[in-house]
Amino acid sequence: MNILFIGPPGSGKGTQSKRLQDRFGLVHLSTGDMFREAIARQTAVGMKAKGFMDRGEYVPDSVVIDLIRDRLSAPDCKKGFILDGFPRTEPQAEALDGLLSGMGLKLDAIFQFDVAKGVLVERLSSRRVCRVCGQTVSQDQVASLASDCPKNPGSKCDFYQRSDDAPEVVGRRIEVYETQTSPIVGFYSRKPGFLKVDADQHPDSVYGLLERALGPA
Ligand code: AMP
Repeated sequence: MNILFIGPPGSGKGTQSKRLQDRFGLVHLSTGDMFREAIARQTAVGMKAKGFMDRGEYVPDSVVIDLIRDRLSAPDCKKGFILDGFPRTEPQAEALDGLLSGMGLKLDAIFQFDVAKGVLVERLSSRRVCRVCGQTVSQDQVASLASDCPKNPGSKCDFYQRSDDAPEVVGRRIEVYETQTSPIVGFYSRKPGFLKVDADQHPDSVYGLLERALGPA
């Protein structure tokens, strides 16, 4: 099963990807995570991406398309994948169509995450991410989290704020989404398997909607 998530930053795509990945045995393909890893490892791709990410702008299409082409051809993607954060522009959507048809694959489900802009700003500005397991929580939950880090038993999660979640960058990221990504939503809304999801709700309710739409694992 191959799934596409489209939605603005802070709409919960990453959170839902992690849950669906476990439930359906899928690979989570987040281009944002791939770039953050590349930056941490100081690779050439990471160096190209960093400035754009810090400003809340999109990395050039050619860089993103090369990255996803390589990743999709890896053997683990054969079990099915969730695309989270790609495609974000018309050229990327066209490239994805070409890549999938060349591989004899299709998208089985396309979910558009719909969230009010005010909620996004608040969520992103208070978002904290664990450096080790990647789980995201809001700032006011950090102190009260009792359980250990799932990937580091015996220790608590090591939460930090992503540099592009800083209040001065958040507005720009939402603006870039509206101008560059919103136009491709129309294109995907006409494809089979498309569903618009009210992602203003609690993550458990959003997950319930996705699970029902996908049917049994
Ligand atoms: P995300 O973690 O999905 O919010 O992505 C973080 C940042 O990575 C974005 O603000 C962009 O700078 C960059 N990025 C991730 N995916 C893409 C993409 N498909 N196209 C262009 N830039 C991207």
